Amino acid sequence: MDILLVDDDIVDRVAITRTLKKSNLNVNITEAITVDEGLKLYHQQRFDVVLLDYNLPLRDGIEMIVEIRNAPKDSSIAIVMMSTSEDEDLALECIRSGAQDFLIKSEISEKKLKRAILHSTTRHNLEKKLFETYKKVKILAETDCLTGLPNRYFFDESLKLALTDNERDKSTLALLLIDLDNFKLINDTFGHDTGDVFLKQAVLTIKECLRGNEIFARLGGDEFAIILTKLESSEQASLVAQRIIAAMKTPLNIASTLIQSTVSIGIALYPDNSKTSKEIFKHADIAMYRAKKWGRNQACFFEERMQVKFHKRLHLEAELRSALDKKQFQLYYQPVLEPGSDTVKGFEALIRWNINGTVRQPDDFIRVAEETQQIIPIGLWVIEEAISTLARWNIGRVNPFTMSINVSAVQLRNLDIVDYLVDCLEKHGVSATLIEVELTETALFKNTSTSRQVISALIENGFSLSLDDFGTGFSSISHLRNYPISTVKIDKSLMPEFLEDTKNIALVEGLVAMATILGLDIIAEGVESQDHVELCKRLMIKRVQGYVYSQPQPSDEIEKKYL
Ligand code: C2E
Ligand code: MG
Ligand code: MG
Repeated sequence: MDILLVDDDIVDRVAITRTLKKSNLNVNITEAITVDEGLKLYHQQRFDVVLLDYNLPLRDGIEMIVEIRNAPKDSSIAIVMMSTSEDEDLALECIRSGAQDFLIKSEISEKKLKRAILHSTTRHNLEKKLFETYKKVKILAETDCLTGLPNRYFFDESLKLALTDNERDKSTLALLLIDLDNFKLINDTFGHDTGDVFLKQAVLTIKECLRGNEIFARLGGDEFAIILTKLESSEQASLVAQRIIAAMKTPLNIASTLIQSTVSIGIALYPDNSKTSKEIFKHADIAMYRAKKWGRNQACFFEERMQVKFHKRLHLEAELRSALDKKQFQLYYQPVLEPGSDTVKGFEALIRWNINGTVRQPDDFIRVAEETQQIIPIGLWVIEEAISTLARWNIGRVNPFTMSINVSAVQLRNLDIVDYLVDCLEKHGVSATLIEVELTETALFKNTSTSRQVISALIENGFSLSLDDFGTGFSSISHLRNYPISTVKIDKSLMPEFLEDTKNIALVEGLVAMATILGLDIIAEGVESQDHVELCKRLMIKRVQGYVYSQPQPSDEIEKKYL
């Protein structure tokens, strides 16, 4: 038996060692004088028992117990505390901290010491077994056996905790109740065993729609719940719900049979309408009932305002999906000019969505197009349309126009865009040097390895890059330095409203100075008045865009005016 003896008193150490040797226990004794020394030995070697003096210099014995019992090392060490004091409270405190026995030094005899050592090792082993069993029972009590998900009990407790947490940081929490639409039919048709396998697979499918930090529980039967916490907007909840609905539309392959069950989802928000865990649960349940009533295979918000927003959004998404086929997109062009001579240098292509004569602006749909990835096919259409138009406009021109094309962060997630641009140039006989690809700081900020590759490939192929909306985002010099940008476009919101607006003027001056030092070209956007033109001239800005010259216009209008 390996024993660690921690005692600063040499006389006591000798006495204890002698007593131990006299007993017929086969012991190996290692000695330490302080808690730190003892802990060092404890981490280096394996011991069965530590005989620990309470009164030690610097740190007392209880501190050592606490450290041992909280160490990550799985400790099977039993602890016997020794003290000169007969204080009952001290004895109890030692036991509570994790010692198995307590001896008063003056009473130590060969028999007592031996018994304390043997009893405390046995007791400690029992305690460990009990703890293991407790852990197992706890898991059993909180887990659904079939799916391995947390069960109803765990869910209830977690919901209460999550609400308290969210109350503290005032963020939004969403509760999603999910119900399989035809699970009963699956059970009746294929039997319960197949039903069980279906449930397990459905759980895996739903899990793939989650990030992993959400609470996802099985409440019973075919009913599940998800708690989404710390949401920035309630739309995040509808996105998750949409993802689950879309994923569950694909039939699952159960023993070579394709079986499908769509889902109905009810969503309630906290603190919007619900104040307690009971209330939010009731609201999500009502919302789920509505989702079923309105035809299943859909999500429904309890909050009416959210439901209206949600439907609008779904409608927009659906319309957007068919807009390319219906040829509803159109490019408008805004001239980019030299402020002194008013010579047109080129154009920026700006998308419009024309639904039977009603023209929608990009701010109404670009974000949704990005979130649904629709921006990828739309973006390709923009590229082809803009390049073919430029080719037509440049026929016979000595000084060809440039064309600026807006590209969003989502479009940088795949290298295909570069091939597509290059193919379009070849097809229409346009030089890459005439194309300015406009990126925003968010696109640069995402900075994934693919986006870096796309940016490098664009440069290698001779495109120029400009940074759009400069001055509205982070405007970090590191972005300007680390990326091969040739132009920055000062955002329209920075144009001073009147000439006495010294703050904004100073801001523009500062940004211009910063860009100039870095050797970048500058385009000023939102040039709406003659004062703006004068300001740009004074700051030696060589290119400008704005309503003072022209609004964005369809190609035929541009052709009438400038060609
Ligand atoms: P942006 O690239 O910064 O485009 C400039 C915006 O400022 C345009 O808005 C333009 O109409 C507007 N503008 C131009 N001159 C003036 C002016 O003097 N005063 C004011 N107040 N505004 C002026 P628009 O066309 O609504 O486009 C908004 C944004 O939508 C664009 O900002 C761009 O980020 C995005 N966008 C437009 N077309 C596309 C596209 O094809 N693809 C992508 N990914 N984004 C696009
Ligand atoms: Mg732009
Ligand atoms: Mg801009």
